[in-house]
Amino acid sequence: MTERIVIENCAVATVDADDTEYASGHVVVAGATIESVGAGPAPRDVENVVRRIDATGHLATPGLVNTHHHFYQWLTRGLATDHNLFDWLVALYPTWSRIDEEMVHTAAQGSLAMMARGGVTTAMDHHYVYPQGCGDLSGAVIRAARGTGVRLTLARGSMDRGESDGGLPPDFAVESLEGALAATEATIDAHHDASFGAMTQIAVAPCSPFSVSTDLLRQGAELARRKGVRLHTHGSETVEEEKFCHELFGMGPTDYFESTGWLGEDVWMAHCVHMNDSDIAAFARTGTGVAHCPSSNARLAAGIARVPDMLAAGVPVGLGVDGTASNESGELHTELRNALLVNRLGPHRETALTTRQALRLGTYGGARVLGREREIGSLEPGKLADLVLWRTDTLAHASIADPVAALVLGAPAPVTLSLVGGRPVVEDGRLLHVDEEAVARATRTQARRLARAAGRD
Ligand SMILES: [Zn+2]
Repeated sequence: MTERIVIENCAVATVDADDTEYASGHVVVAGATIESVGAGPAPRDVENVVRRIDATGHLATPGLVNTHHHFYQWLTRGLATDHNLFDWLVALYPTWSRIDEEMVHTAAQGSLAMMARGGVTTAMDHHYVYPQGCGDLSGAVIRAARGTGVRLTLARGSMDRGESDGGLPPDFAVESLEGALAATEATIDAHHDASFGAMTQIAVAPCSPFSVSTDLLRQGAELARRKGVRLHTHGSETVEEEKFCHELFGMGPTDYFESTGWLGEDVWMAHCVHMNDSDIAAFARTGTGVAHCPSSNARLAAGIARVPDMLAAGVPVGLGVDGTASNESGELHTELRNALLVNRLGPHRETALTTRQALRLGTYGGARVLGREREIGSLEPGKLADLVLWRTDTLAHASIADPVAALVLGAPAPVTLSLVGGRPVVEDGRLLHVDEEAVARATRTQARRLARAAGRD
């Protein structure tokens, strides 16, 4: 008989199509899925309740969905702090090219722990640095996600355009075209799960126009479509990238992506800061998704993405932490606030995002971008029980009547409970399946190992 968890007496923001909210409502979880959501207390006749939670003083939302990250960067935070993207990459590539399996596993643990503690229930890692002889990095990331208890989309990245081919990364940090494609296909075959409720999915993810060849983009897209997996890359991040594309390919990034098969409803792209009206129209027409990373874009002085215009045009948009070498906080719940604030600083000013739209970006928007909107991203019967109970009755939030405004605009709200497929992952702010202090110590050890290997220490 299916075991049930009843959560009641809390505010509920379902983030369904109508943005239905309950000032005091309930959620009934049956096994891995949501059985009912509604106003007032849960029905009294619910059977086989193994846990009944009085969530007074809390807001229940769908679990947060992160759509862009680079876990390995957890070991290189706080470096090259005054650089723009290209200078920052050139400064960090020599260190990044020294990573190994142990470092990547520890970095993934750190990245995942930080996000899970802040209400992320679906994580993604775009990993694109595979030095020769570095071990099984994809396996290390997947192991860390399983250990934390959150869902993972691993975007198997790659770089094959080294310095000698006009690219930005040093030659010793890149793979061959054939090697990258073969390893990506092997990762899909070994780990991709297309079933409802999958804990691990794989995407094909060449790094960026300035670090991969046109052939890798083209053949990567063909591979993804042959395998039925999604496609991910960085796009239109900086003015320098735009200039690079015009000089090398005679067109802007979006036209270049279109020419290589990289627009489509199975594609999502990080950043998309420098998009003109016709670029946005092309994304809308093709259903191409965007991972908006406001903190990273600010940290690297990349610019402000036109998120209100994208949403108005119907472009799917989710939120991303981005790698923690360009967003040291490593949290997604603070990106709800930053997405709102950054966009209100942009050209749209007061007609920019609303608090509800910010929450939608971090939940349903992210689910849609990852191709999982039928499973996660909103609290609705039949969907997976990925949900978070945010505490809103402490000093930080108690005087704010609107709980969604408290979550989005206030200080980071503590997570009292986080469920992934009905399984608790966080309780009272503590990770249940990971020893946070041990992970913190290991990340310091591995960060030092990497610094030494790169000759920085
Ligand atoms: Zn990135």
